[in-house]
Amino acid sequence: MIEVPDRMKHLDRDHRGYPIPYIVFRDDDGKPHFTINNEHKVLRCKHDEICAICGVKLLRGRWFLGGPMSAFHPHGAYIDPPLHHECMRFAVQTCPYLISTKYTKRIDGATLDPSKATGVVSLIDPTLDPTRPKVFVAVMAVGQWITPSGYVQPKHPYRGLEFWRDGKMEQKFERDQVRVAMLAAFKKFEAAGMIKIGE
Ligand SMILES: [Zn+2]
Repeated sequence: MIEVPDRMKHLDRDHRGYPIPYIVFRDDDGKPHFTINNEHKVLRCKHDEICAICGVKLLRGRWFLGGPMSAFHPHGAYIDPPLHHECMRFAVQTCPYLISTKYTKRIDGATLDPSKATGVVSLIDPTLDPTRPKVFVAVMAVGQWITPSGYVQPKHPYRGLEFWRDGKMEQKFERDQVRVAMLAAFKKFEAAGMIKIGE
């Protein structure tokens, strides 16, 4: 495991020593279920601009993690709340299942005893999702708003851009480089069929 950033040091650890992200669902015994989100906490993160990993207020520049479609589609938006830079980097290197692309209201009976699941939960099951991105795109924005359907939309223009694959950062762009890199990435992913305008 990579070193846990200072921002996450206050989090409880699981039996392997992994920090338990703020939004991860914990049953009535306190046991974390890493593939299930606590939906109340997700909503709190979105509305109060709190980092979904460490549970602390975001800075002005906050990072959205997802696939190319969310990052580069003109109406791109995210199911997941944004993160601090250090928390995003920890997540993309150690727990890719945090980057959900599919939510259901079903409770994961494989790991969770429903009698211990108080509250509203949502299940993340990336293994079943064919649209799960192979390339993760992290974008930094200085503001956000919530769409009527509950997605979070970053404010444009983005101020930072990073590409990640298999837990390794492939490219990063800052400040003046971002706009040009965004245009190039949009064309590349659109040509590959990974961004479809009109959807
Ligand atoms: Zn954080």
